[in-house]
Amino acid sequence: MCTQFYFDYAATTPVKKEVLEEMLPFFNADFGNPSSIYNIGRRGKNAVDIARDRIAKTLNSKSEEIFFTGGGSESDNWAIKGVAFANRDKGNHIITSKIEHHAVLQTCKYLEREGFEVTYLSVDKYGLVSTDDLKNAIRDNTILISIMYANNEIGTIQPIKELAGIAKEKGIIFHTDAVQAYGNEIIDVEDLGIDLLSVSAHKIYGPKGVGALYIRKGTKIHKLIHGGGQEKMRRAGTENTPGIVGFGKAAEMAYENIEEHIERLTGLRDKLIDGIITKIEHTELNGHPTKRLPGNVNISFEFIEGEALLLSLDMEGIAASSGSACTSGSLNPSHVLTATGLTHEKAHGSLRLTLGDFTTEDEIDYVIEKLQPIVNRLRNMSPLYENVRGKDE
Ligand SMILES: *Cc1c(COP(=O)(O)O)cnc(C)c1O
Repeated sequence: MCTQFYFDYAATTPVKKEVLEEMLPFFNADFGNPSSIYNIGRRGKNAVDIARDRIAKTLNSKSEEIFFTGGGSESDNWAIKGVAFANRDKGNHIITSKIEHHAVLQTCKYLEREGFEVTYLSVDKYGLVSTDDLKNAIRDNTILISIMYANNEIGTIQPIKELAGIAKEKGIIFHTDAVQAYGNEIIDVEDLGIDLLSVSAHKIYGPKGVGALYIRKGTKIHKLIHGGGQEKMRRAGTENTPGIVGFGKAAEMAYENIEEHIERLTGLRDKLIDGIITKIEHTELNGHPTKRLPGNVNISFEFIEGEALLLSLDMEGIAASSGSACTSGSLNPSHVLTATGLTHEKAHGSLRLTLGDFTTEDEIDYVIEKLQPIVNRLRNMSPLYENVRGKDE
């Protein structure tokens, strides 16, 4: 059925009208290859340059430090593999966390098979990495630390400045996957002191299949995509001009009223959390109560399967997500929820509702109203819940 109530902005976002409008000419009228010297090619090159400037401005970086990629996953792969292979003479140890996106975790697993050693830091019950744990994990042969800025499942925002500071003190390269934080947090690469940062367009109302990697000038990194001389000889392939143009516009729009955006979403988020937790018993918020993304709600419902919840919500026109097994395509529940100490049962019963620029207060009311009877109905079918109810009475 057609979804009327979209609560999965962390999965992807619709392209904004203004963004699409700026992209359209670059599919046909201004189709020229940015690498060519004639007029129509130059128009493409100029547009790419403008997009680069716009993105640099949102991160307080230099334009020359922004490199376009095919999305967040490529940026993560490039940062981690590129630094690992370029700094192999210095060491083979990498530090990351247990709650990273698969684009980081699977890249680290690959590097382990290639002879690198990886430490996966634990997190506390809120999903926070401890600075002491990071200090203790650093060895003489540590060449890279990669810790995500904000988690895509539970929304927890890490103390990135402190973590990057520890890396800097030891002269270790620091990367952060900021795909979720971008457009939801004020990010200043100079103030934070980070060396590499991954972002993606489709999480901020831009098109899919385009992203960027910020690379601090002087960072030793190999290329991931070999071929032509695009992106200052560091990432081959004819530029995705319409995508890059859309990304630039989306980034500019995301930071035009960032404080207002954060305030509005935080209000809606807390209303949704309170509404669910106070109205429905045996529920628990996952992630940190305040150090969390403005649009992230993640709640575990005891005695319920996430899939069943998602199917029932879909019938009411609500699109959401779960850390349960089937939705992740594997038998195990979310690695993020289990890393925060959740039992498999509670992880299976989790629901993620993520809000964005088109979320309204009415939609929040609608979800709260629909959720209660759905949860009651599903629990009434659960033998585990029978026992609990029996005791309560
Ligand atoms: C979505 C996401 C990615 C992957 O980005 P794509 O552009 O979809 O490849 C990486 N990291 C995080 C935290 C994400 O949320």
